[in-house]
Amino acid sequence: MRSTSPYARSRAAQAHWARLDVAERAERLRPAAQRLAEGVDQFADLIHEENGKPKFEAVAHEVSASIGYLRWLLSEAPELLQTRGVSMGILPHRKAEIQRVPWGTVLIIGPWNVPLFIPLAQVASALVAGNAVVLKPSEVTPRCAEIIAEVFGACDLPEGLLQVLGGDGSVGAKLIRQKPDKVLFTGSVATGRKVMAACARHPIPVTLELGGIDAMIVCDDADLEFASSAAAWGATFNGGQVCASVERLIVQDSIRERFLSLVADKLERINVHEDLGPMTFDGQRAVYDAHLQDARERGLEFPTGGRWLGERHFAPTLVTGEGAAESALWCEETFGPMVVAVPFGEDADAVRLHNSVPFGLTASVFTRDASRARAIASELRVGMVSVNEIAATLFSQPELPWGGVGASGFGRSHGAEGLVDCTWPRVVEQARMPGMDFKRLWWYPYGPRQEKTVAALGRSLAPGERLKQWSHLAEAGMAAVSALTGRARL
Ligand code: NAD
Repeated sequence: MRSTSPYARSRAAQAHWARLDVAERAERLRPAAQRLAEGVDQFADLIHEENGKPKFEAVAHEVSASIGYLRWLLSEAPELLQTRGVSMGILPHRKAEIQRVPWGTVLIIGPWNVPLFIPLAQVASALVAGNAVVLKPSEVTPRCAEIIAEVFGACDLPEGLLQVLGGDGSVGAKLIRQKPDKVLFTGSVATGRKVMAACARHPIPVTLELGGIDAMIVCDDADLEFASSAAAWGATFNGGQVCASVERLIVQDSIRERFLSLVADKLERINVHEDLGPMTFDGQRAVYDAHLQDARERGLEFPTGGRWLGERHFAPTLVTGEGAAESALWCEETFGPMVVAVPFGEDADAVRLHNSVPFGLTASVFTRDASRARAIASELRVGMVSVNEIAATLFSQPELPWGGVGASGFGRSHGAEGLVDCTWPRVVEQARMPGMDFKRLWWYPYGPRQEKTVAALGRSLAPGERLKQWSHLAEAGMAAVSALTGRARL
């Protein structure tokens, strides 16, 4: 019977691709960056049309970010994926190496909010690591996914190495049932749970890049003009439809009033139709409305916003007041241009408030005191923290690992960690020199001499005085000689 699984096709291509060395694979992928560079304007227009984000963001966060990612990846991958030699402490006559082995075929399931950069960076990493890729882009932005097919189509890749298969969640679910070798999923927590459960059945290793309700901590010594501009942008760029957008403000008591009035003023001055863009996906409407209703029922204050401006535009919104830290806006991802503010007294309270939610993707700390920033940052249960900056780790720093903890997922994209995550480690160990393959002490038969050897060896490994360690080691050596020569081995 003929198989309809795309993996049969990709596996044949992958077997050939994986035999090339990393530098050769990187070289073959280089035309993708060139094609993107030639088409910045054309691709950004397409993203703007389909996703709705402003053209500026389509250029900066999607096309240019993709070129920057490829530039880093293709130059660094050969070193990051190289085979590494390791010395083995208690078996000095043997040597080991760790090889990075591609999984085989990686299924990448993508979201609609960053429809080019997120899947493209993952596709490129998986390919350069030696995998084949099946990409299932979001059904909300299918044309953006065609850009990925087009730019990698400019590369000399084996037939079937990269397949882009459109469709909704049922296609994603089927592709998991058909058993890829690894799944890289970016999307909501609800879908992430289903994906993980489906992967568990096989089991298939899975990386989950999920949602966030990221917080900005604003200390009393922060530059408030600067920080309020950061808050207004961080809460609303891409229409607030970013896993790393600022959804929570944690503001020190003494500056709260002044800071929130600056933020409200700046949110009001955003040119919604030019700079914010519309809600991309109608399904988000119910979430916005539910979170607003919850805030109203709790009697929270709306210093600005809280209303629709036509069919698909929502006014940038600031919510605050007693009980805000229990609201849906605080506890669940809204994914819209809304931010909720809560006050803090001591820095430890800011940390506690930050860590009070199950998500942990990005965070930011605004203060003029670098050591205070570092002390707070080091307590946050989160994947990435920026000081006096927002979401910089998202688009412009390919060398940093991207990913979260808790409900924000696990595993990493980008950076050395993300690249290595596209492979598994294979250890190969062997004698340093030929002729060292005498029978082993730990093979049968067991006996008191063997026991004496391993006990002395164990004692020699305990931390403590060097002299004592050496004497245990000598004892182990003598016992080993006696054990190995004392009687015939099995
Ligand atoms: P979603 O979960 O609705 O869909 C994501 C993808 O999963 C889509 O391609 C969809 O077709 C597919 N899918 C749906 N059901 C499936 C199933 N049962 N099996 C397999 N695949 C299935 O998410 P979305 O609305 O496209 O994206 C928005 C969410 O993604 C937000 O929560 C956002 O925070 C998150 N996100 C996270 C990151 C990150 O890096 N952590 C980046 C971007 C977006």
